[in-house]
Amino acid sequence: MTPILEKKDIEEKKAKRLILFLRWMIFIVLMFLFLYSKEKESIKNIKLVNRLLLFFIISNVGLGFVPCKKFLLNKIRYSVFIFDTVFVSVLIYLASGADVELYMAYFLVIFMAALGQSILLSLIITFLISILYGAIVMQTNSIAGMYNTSVLIRIPFLFVVALFSSYFAQEAKKYKVNLRKVENLYGEVKSQLFQSAKLASVGTLASGVIHEIGNLLQIIMGTAESIKRHEGRTEENRKRIKDICEVAEQGGIISRGLLAFSHKGDERYENLDVKRILDESYELVKYNLEKDRVQVIKRYSEEPCSVSVNRNQIKQVIINFMNNARDAMKDGGKLLVTCKTEGEKVIVEFIDEGGGIPDKIRDKVFSPFFTTKEEGGGTGLGLSISRDIMTQHNGTIDFDSREGEGATFRIILPKCV
Ligand code: ADP
Repeated sequence: MTPILEKKDIEEKKAKRLILFLRWMIFIVLMFLFLYSKEKESIKNIKLVNRLLLFFIISNVGLGFVPCKKFLLNKIRYSVFIFDTVFVSVLIYLASGADVELYMAYFLVIFMAALGQSILLSLIITFLISILYGAIVMQTNSIAGMYNTSVLIRIPFLFVVALFSSYFAQEAKKYKVNLRKVENLYGEVKSQLFQSAKLASVGTLASGVIHEIGNLLQIIMGTAESIKRHEGRTEENRKRIKDICEVAEQGGIISRGLLAFSHKGDERYENLDVKRILDESYELVKYNLEKDRVQVIKRYSEEPCSVSVNRNQIKQVIINFMNNARDAMKDGGKLLVTCKTEGEKVIVEFIDEGGGIPDKIRDKVFSPFFTTKEEGGGTGLGLSISRDIMTQHNGTIDFDSREGEGATFRIILPKCV
């Protein structure tokens, strides 16, 4: 997902571009009307017109260099609208008033003002335009010109356009604000979903880890017993005490690993060797895999497979692959885990000998809540969350599989140098 700040920048850039674009349109419309106007001969001061048009070009090019944030400040925007209103009015005046179609350029100014303004402000600007326009009509066509219906109809028309364009601009703005709120909410819900799915797998892992620690405690107790029985044989007992320390240390690593994994954790990315994360993840699922007679074969390439990742999230992906492989090999089997680099990429594969993925569900396995496991067996979130995690890491996830021939799940991450 694009960060919110970045999105705001993009929207501001778009708003600025739109205003500049409308100003270019004003210029083109004015040029066009001047060139093709039937009243060309009646233009009062062609030199001044040309200078004004040139000044308009320079002002628009100059505005292009004003940073977005400054450009969208109210005082700058209002100055631009007022300048354009006066500019168009002066040109209409110089071009002999309301008889020419130059009046249409006012619509572009109104559209511009409608962008991001309140309806009231748009109406105020339109009011200003109407006064100026009315003054020009009176000046050039006398009072009688004012009552000419074709001239009169133009003023309410300006208000109608202002009302509609600012109303739609307001609606679009409201829609954008709501969309941003929904996107924020979606981000929050998604992160909670990540955590829930992880906790669901922590539940399964916990029983395995408790067994594993139970086994280690058995070893500790047996060895301690032996020390007691062989009091006095210092050399042998020293070795036994060393064994106890090692086993207790291993127990600590496993329980700490589970604890760290279950934590929500931070968003930090670290440069890590994937092989290490694979081993740490394996420690957590080892008991469950062994219990179900799944033998894990690791085939890692020698070179470092460094990636910039969030450790817990990548563990979540790996554990999900290992659990899925175990579920797919109901009668046990081999799970080959490979890790290698290829150019600028680190590739990790999980190759199992399970039932594979039938063609008819190929397109669904990454969909949230899709599961073929019995009730209570799966949440259907593992692969969809894994795909999100990989996208966040600028990585990819895919698989090759045929029904009855096992499955190969693959993740590809950019290598860190
Ligand atoms: P869950 O494991 O909770 O069902 P996942 O999103 O991890 O959710 O997996 C979705 C579905 O993809 C599984 O229910 C299963 O049908 C299929 N699947 C995933 N991995 C494998 C695999 N290694 N072998 C066969 N099918 C798999």
